[in-house]
Amino acid sequence: MMVRHQGLLLSLVEARHRSGELARRDPLTGLANRRALFALGQSAIEQARRLGHPIALIGLDADHFKRVNDQHGHAAGDAVLEALAATLRSVTRASDVCARLGGEEFTVLSPGTDLVGATELAERLRQAIANLRVEYQGEQLLITCSFGVTASEQGAASLEQLLNIADIATYRAKHLGRNRVEVEHIIAVKQTE
Ligand code: GH3
Ligand code: MG
Ligand code: MG
Repeated sequence: MMVRHQGLLLSLVEARHRSGELARRDPLTGLANRRALFALGQSAIEQARRLGHPIALIGLDADHFKRVNDQHGHAAGDAVLEALAATLRSVTRASDVCARLGGEEFTVLSPGTDLVGATELAERLRQAIANLRVEYQGEQLLITCSFGVTASEQGAASLEQLLNIADIATYRAKHLGRNRVEVEHIIAVKQTE
């Protein structure tokens, strides 16, 4: 019963995500925007809570992105953002929600993924991005990102909590030299209804 429901509900979230029923996409990258992340994320979290499944959140922020704009122009920066988004889409699963929160800041919300799995995913993303060569007007642009990872074991944390805790880890990744993955555990979470 639970298992049957799980598949049904997951595919429902996926179908809504894919069909763009919520139609709140970032125009540059085609990813979910912050509003869509909240709409999709909240139902994914409720589902994880009901089923007692983990859910992970990976935050990432492009490193020294201002330099890309300063050295190559804003349109080159946009091309890099599009390449980042394409990499997120290709490396993650269809059931993951990839969102652009604004500027050069992105999030991957991954239902059914625990902290270990999310850390591996973040590391795969980090390497894929560091290996990108973004062609722009005959130049090859390089980019790296700093990553912050967290996960809620049974879906107990809210999306805001996941985002805040991932932010702490991302900030640490920046501070420790960028182009790296940092992990932050959720210590104690109040049950919310
Ligand atoms: P850090 O490694 O500390 O994150 O440095 P940073 O330069 O990436 O950080 P900062 O927040 O100083 O700069 C972010 C830059 O992103 C500044 C802003 O002009 C640029 N930016 C924000 N949105 C867009 C966009 O849609 N397109 C382009 N091309 N640039 C953008
Ligand atoms: Mg930023
Ligand atoms: Mg940045």
